[in-house]
Amino acid sequence: MKIDLSQKIILVTGASRGIGKSIALLLGKSGAKLALNYNRNEEAALAVQKEIGKRAVLFKGNLSNAMEVTSMFASVIEHFGRLDVLVNNAGIALSAPTNQNDVEWVESWLTTMDVNLNAVGLLCKKSIEIFKTQASGGRIINIASRAAFRGETEEYLAYAASKGAVVALTKSIAKSFGKYGIKSFVVAPGFVLTDMAKPFIEAYGKEKTLDATALDEATLPEHLAPLVAFIASGNMDHATGTTIDINGGSYLH
Ligand code: NAP
Repeated sequence: MKIDLSQKIILVTGASRGIGKSIALLLGKSGAKLALNYNRNEEAALAVQKEIGKRAVLFKGNLSNAMEVTSMFASVIEHFGRLDVLVNNAGIALSAPTNQNDVEWVESWLTTMDVNLNAVGLLCKKSIEIFKTQASGGRIINIASRAAFRGETEEYLAYAASKGAVVALTKSIAKSFGKYGIKSFVVAPGFVLTDMAKPFIEAYGKEKTLDATALDEATLPEHLAPLVAFIASGNMDHATGTTIDINGGSYLH
């Protein structure tokens, strides 16, 4: 089946690197018009845009700041006039062990929530406002994590908590706005080889990470992008509210 997204306008957050980059490139290849958000890595974002061509437009915005979230979203709507799919991909994983001092621990907790949950919630709200005005509704794809279901190590309590909340948020949107033609999905990756995963590889080694899955190869960003394209195409609309796990069968271990 060929996925044709040529009629779709899609916002992807955190599109400069890792999973977001891979999603952007595949959506671009499938013909979508793309609003690509990035934060610090402008050069990397420009390279992604260049590879896709003029269908992709960059929107800088630090999602840890609610004002930047709303102004970035307003710029996207001003530029494209509408939105069909929101992909909330940007995320951070800050290490904050419980023996850290309270001030630093709380700072990590709040920053994690700002990026991984608060921005996601706000972008969902802003997208729902737009989707409700469109006969075609819209789709939301939130990238959560295996950590939402299986928990994380003690340094990443905030990360796991933020992703668990994203799952509940996504289900609530599916339940509340389905009658407006709005569908909402969670994609929950396990361990994926990106910059975010580097500290885990350094701490536990690649072999040990692979041992925790059913496959003999690590999950790459390219293993996630096709699912996002498929959901964006509308072929999974009747699965709204669900989570699709991409974790190399790690739940079987
Ligand atoms: P990554 O390689 O570290 O890339 C993170 C992306 O998010 C970058 O494009 C970065 O933009 C953007 N970003 C970070 N903070 C931001 C902010 N404040 N405002 C705007 N953008 C921001 O991460 P990844 O591994 O691709 O992760 C993507 C998503 O998958 C995240 O939600 C993550 O939690 C989830 N996930 C990853 C794994 C894994 O093992 N890698 C597993 C489960 C779930 P700049 O580079 O421009 O700053």
